[in-house]
Amino acid sequence: MTSNKDIYASIFNNAIQAIILIDRHGIIRDVNPASEEIFGYSQEQLLGQNVSLLMAPPYLHEHDGYIEHFLATGEARVIGTGRELLARHRDGSPIPIELAVSEVVVGEETLFVGMVNDISARKESERLLYLNNKVMRAINAALGGFINANMARKEIFDNLLEKLLDITDSEYGFIGEILHKDDHTPYLKTYAITNIAWNHDTRKLYKENVRNGLEFHNLDTLFGITIRTGEVVISNNPGDDPRSGGLPKDHPSLDAYLGLPLYSGNKLIGMAGISNRPGGYDEELADLLKPLLGTIGSLIAGYQNLHSRRKAEQALYRAQAKLRQLATQDALTGIANRSSLIDQLSDVFERSKQQGDNFSLLFLDIDHFKSINDNYGHQVGDKALQHAVAVVQEHMRPSDIFGRYGGEEFVLGLLDCDAENALHCAERFRAAMQSSSVAADSGGTVISMTISVGVATLDDETTDIDAFINNADQAVYAAKRAGRNCVRSFSRDSTEALEAEPV
Ligand code: GH3
Ligand code: MG
Ligand code: MG
Repeated sequence: MTSNKDIYASIFNNAIQAIILIDRHGIIRDVNPASEEIFGYSQEQLLGQNVSLLMAPPYLHEHDGYIEHFLATGEARVIGTGRELLARHRDGSPIPIELAVSEVVVGEETLFVGMVNDISARKESERLLYLNNKVMRAINAALGGFINANMARKEIFDNLLEKLLDITDSEYGFIGEILHKDDHTPYLKTYAITNIAWNHDTRKLYKENVRNGLEFHNLDTLFGITIRTGEVVISNNPGDDPRSGGLPKDHPSLDAYLGLPLYSGNKLIGMAGISNRPGGYDEELADLLKPLLGTIGSLIAGYQNLHSRRKAEQALYRAQAKLRQLATQDALTGIANRSSLIDQLSDVFERSKQQGDNFSLLFLDIDHFKSINDNYGHQVGDKALQHAVAVVQEHMRPSDIFGRYGGEEFVLGLLDCDAENALHCAERFRAAMQSSSVAADSGGTVISMTISVGVATLDDETTDIDAFINNADQAVYAAKRAGRNCVRSFSRDSTEALEAEPV
């Protein structure tokens, strides 16, 4: 039968845990083969050494204290309990371990047995899980902000950058959109960027442009590679990297750099760059970030779509406004055309009737206009029409309604104006027109024009706007009959309209 001693020896030799036997001074008495495996030392190298050789800070300095404390008080901190801490490999790298120490008294002597489990794999998957959770939370927050439209673009991207720096332990970074100049050369425009300004000028540049995005056009740089090739760029020593275009004078040093392309589908749409991660960057980290980068790419595409939709909407709105204007404006003189004029007059007509306000109309007709066309040509005729409009506009109130009723006929609606005042106004326009003149050519020929004006004032018998305009029209005919260049009022009582008092 196998002796127990042989069995214990076999357990000691075949255990997957490192088993380390130390004395009360921490001197190693024995180690098993698993210890060699975990710590990278041979058995001979360990025997007789203080166990602190295998410990990493901060546990290193506390260790002797534990044993003394236990021996003095019997109170266990490590001894008798399992505990997670960092040990040190022969190559200096830290090893996460779980340690349980038991006291064994052999005869007179007190010894301690340390059982060590290497928990690197578990710690690594915990770390990845933790980082993946952070990535997922960052994605959720950004998508939520975009979809609910409760966050501004800047806030969303500032948050994304902050999370990207946090997840990767980086110091500086940016997220940007790749745009193209007219000649198709790409450049970068930032959506978010950490403040890396190092002097007055760069601080000013940052402050003034951070909101709308900083632009970077020089692509002979590390980040330029990602823009040109669409690839991940890792440079853990940018200072000596031949691909780097160098940094501007006094720019803070970059210890490590990771350039990450951002895609929307197959299209390279932007990039992120981060720097100064202690220990540098690797592919594994870039892989971990993939879901986050995919989301950022989609968000940039989302904002681009939003932007072009808004631009199209604005163009449509402007075109509609222009159309509306064209539909209501007389092309030659810029004042209201006939239909717009009647619409506006009709509104005031209804309101004035309801509220009992005064409202008068002037019907202005240029005298012998046909002869201007006949003598000087149609273009001069057009110019004369524009001149007549300018004369009226100069003397009318801005609140009055002025429009072109037909060829050389205009109507002016005078708000809050009774018959007497309307006659005065009409006479004023008539006189102003008579005393003005317009150049017929560059040779000094001037034309003076006169107008005949008909006046109508709203009364109870005026049933609608057409009748009202018709009254003013009748008055203008009376003025024409009276010899032109004069003013007449519409009157229901007399067949011939009233004459204005000259002003
Ligand atoms: P009266 O004193 O009786 O009003 O004579 P008139 O010549 O002014 O009146 P008539 O109605 O006989 O002629 C109006 C002229 O106005 C005829 C037309 O060719 C001209 N006309 C109308 N619209 C325009 C325009 O947009 N430009 C120019 N140049 N002429 C126009
Ligand atoms: Mg006429
Ligand atoms: Mg006329």
